[in-house]
Amino acid sequence: EAKRSGRNAIRFFDPATHAAMAARIALEADLRHALPQGEFRLHYQLQVDQWRQPVGAEVLLRWQHPRRGMVAPGSFIALAEDTDLISPIGHWVLREACQQLRRWADAPATRELQLAVNVSARQFRQIDFVEQVRSVLESSGANPRLLKLELTESLVLVNLADTLAKMQAINALGVRFAIDDFGTGQSSLAYLTRLSLDQLKIDQTFVASMLGSHTDAVIVQTIIGMAKSLGLEVIAEGVETEEQLAFLVRNGCRRFQGYLLGRPVPIEQLELQLASAVPAEAAD
Ligand code: C2E
Ligand code: MG
Ligand code: MG
Ligand code: MG
Repeated sequence: EAKRSGRNAIRFFDPATHAAMAARIALEADLRHALPQGEFRLHYQLQVDQWRQPVGAEVLLRWQHPRRGMVAPGSFIALAEDTDLISPIGHWVLREACQQLRRWADAPATRELQLAVNVSARQFRQIDFVEQVRSVLESSGANPRLLKLELTESLVLVNLADTLAKMQAINALGVRFAIDDFGTGQSSLAYLTRLSLDQLKIDQTFVASMLGSHTDAVIVQTIIGMAKSLGLEVIAEGVETEEQLAFLVRNGCRRFQGYLLGRPVPIEQLELQLASAVPAEAAD
């Protein structure tokens, strides 16, 4: 049998592949317990306007693994997607974010801040996703207008009819939508105009290379122009330098997120960043 299947049989017994599979299985087993054992944490990354005033934050998931330490989403989101663990995890993130919005609503300095939450394709495709959002908003008492859901281009395009219906229903609750990592997928004006959309998020790879690559600079300028023509807000992610910020401002971008403005941090640290921001009236 092994002889007849040739290369495949050899590949199956490849020790490197075997080790990778074993690691994946172990991680998956741990991931199953992570939510009930309370191992997930949320980090918040500041988003600011052209005067560097806070307008909100993006919510970024972290896994405080008992042995591996803090695990970044790049190492487990895909696995969570494949195993459908992403749906309960995503639900938890949404609940936590809405409870945070509700806490902020009591203080004048924070009551207008928005929170952006990443939604995975699998979570969005759930038949009761609209109901999930509605009930989380209701039970938390969060202002729906301060909640922004980040979807990717590929998610949106996979089943356009379902996407349109769900976005419309959720948008009717007051919730806003952003397209994350914009520019990396199959961007098309035709579908953008049909979505209940609020914001385009310029992918950080373009921001990283726009000052050294004419092509990427043009892509960034085109996205900003496109957003403007469509009446959408545009935010640049991955802003790391003053030069990048200045280029973006010069080209009409008015929202920014990146290490230059603040790293993703636990809520206590975000609130310190918010408190130390120069008050709006002092900025002009
Ligand atoms: P994303 O939504 O595009 O988030 C931006 C990523 O860029 C974050 O990585 C953030 O830490 C990083 N970043 C922010 N500013 C800078 C910068 O100036 N330079 C560089 N080099 N990187 C920057 P993170 O936290 O590792 O998240 C990676 C991805 O994991 C996210 O990309 C998002 O797609 C996904 N993700 C994170 N949290 C969740 C979640 O709660 N649910 C789902 N479904 N996906 C999530
Ligand atoms: Mg995002
Ligand atoms: Mg992004
Ligand atoms: Mg990204």
